[in-house]
Amino acid sequence: MKELLKHKDISFEKVENAIAVTNPYNLEVLAYVKKTSVSELEEIIKSSQIAQKNWREKTALQRADILYKWYELMKKHKESLAKIMTLEQGKSINEARGEVDYSASFIRWFAEEARRVDGDILTSVRNDQKLLVTKEPIGVTAAITPWNFPSAMISRKAAPALAAGCSMILKPASQTPLSAYALANLAYEAGVDENLFVVINGSASQISKCFCDSKIVKKISFTGSTEVGMLLYEQSAKTMKKLSLELGGNAPFIVFDDANLDKAVDGILASKFRNSGQTCVCANRIYVQEGIYDKFSQMIAKAVAKLEVGDGLKESTKQGPLIDEKAVLKVEEHIKDALNKGAKCLLGGKTHKLGGTFFEPTVLQDVTQDMLVAQEETFGPLCPIFKFQTDEEVVEFANNTDFGLASYIFTTSVSRQFKISQALEYGMVGVNTGAISNEVAPFGGVKFSGLGREGSKYGIDEYTQLKYTCLDIGE
Ligand code: NAP
Repeated sequence: MKELLKHKDISFEKVENAIAVTNPYNLEVLAYVKKTSVSELEEIIKSSQIAQKNWREKTALQRADILYKWYELMKKHKESLAKIMTLEQGKSINEARGEVDYSASFIRWFAEEARRVDGDILTSVRNDQKLLVTKEPIGVTAAITPWNFPSAMISRKAAPALAAGCSMILKPASQTPLSAYALANLAYEAGVDENLFVVINGSASQISKCFCDSKIVKKISFTGSTEVGMLLYEQSAKTMKKLSLELGGNAPFIVFDDANLDKAVDGILASKFRNSGQTCVCANRIYVQEGIYDKFSQMIAKAVAKLEVGDGLKESTKQGPLIDEKAVLKVEEHIKDALNKGAKCLLGGKTHKLGGTFFEPTVLQDVTQDMLVAQEETFGPLCPIFKFQTDEEVVEFANNTDFGLASYIFTTSVSRQFKISQALEYGMVGVNTGAISNEVAPFGGVKFSGLGREGSKYGIDEYTQLKYTCLDIGE
């Protein structure tokens, strides 16, 4: 595993003025990561520009082959990559393996897409003119990523950027930078130039300001909180950057009376409790129709009670620790607010006996729209169950939020499947499934959940710009 972390910016001995990366399971320091200064970053940006100019000269097939090799190396080192991820992030080893596969799938997909960055020849308004549209790489790009998916949020950006002919400077989350370095080392082994894809760490606000102020950096792709996303939007206005913003969610999960309830329970386990509830597409509000409300609430509580909490490295663990103390406080705040306003606790409700940042998987009943959890993303293992009566009412409840990332509905009625998914103001709708993410699908949100789409055949457009050429062929 340490082989993958051999990098000039990583030390396993204590280093002053470096970021200490800790294991959230036992708070042991795993490694120290160098903080890059603004002046160093300015030099990195210049080198990135040179590397990008060379890279764009390669043929699409050459770029595709290098990306494909990177994908193969990830598969080869899957077990070590998963272990690094569990150690620094806390998620269960099985989820970490799943994330490595998911992460690698973007590299494979964009290796394939690299060969299809096709333009157009338009039907001209004149016989003596040919109108060409080509897609050009946007140039030097930057990415800032969160801790909850330490690998996939990176490959989902870096793979389309490199496929399109761009370079990328990446600042991963300070809590989980090791997966980023491991990924970068494999990219170098595959043939990516060390100046073409660079990982840096340090003060998030200084680094992002440097990206935003730079005229060389043409695009920023950010995944993280809406608050920081808005700041980047504002800060990059003066250099007119192209932006992709994958921000927070507040996903509704709607279960109608006619749903297959076993399937809906599986959906909740997949979408609410993955990564201990710390994903942007996590179900945040479970709306259950009144006819099945009590029965279904009991079914959820029974299934959730079986989730084993513990050390992520143990094969049977389903729920690891939360990322930090702040995350625990937010879950506690949402539970306290709901109980004070009349909710009932069916399961859990407090920190776990294992201590640290472990939290009991929690199920609350009789949750209502006036509670904090209805408006804010909890980002933890809290499953709040709301009751609704009619289709119109639940659509209004579901849309009554600033966010619009993922949403889920469970119903066997085909007419409802269409009508409700159309009425939901969300970028993504899962119908009878709680697992919607894959490399083929366009991932992204509307409203305060952000701008742009990642993955899919649309994802590469975020890293290209159109050029129109008018060829006058008249004498
Ligand atoms: P965050 O606080 O916004 O951090 C995300 C990244 O932004 C980290 O690299 C962080 O660096 C950096 N950052 C923090 N403050 C910054 C600032 N002032 N200027 C520039 N960069 C800054 O979010 P988080 O708590 O790590 O992640 C959870 C959020 O991400 C949730 O809202 C979740 O829904 C969202 N998310 C969205 C998606 C999606 O695809 N839509 C996917 C995953 C997560 P440091 O680590 O150094 O502070």
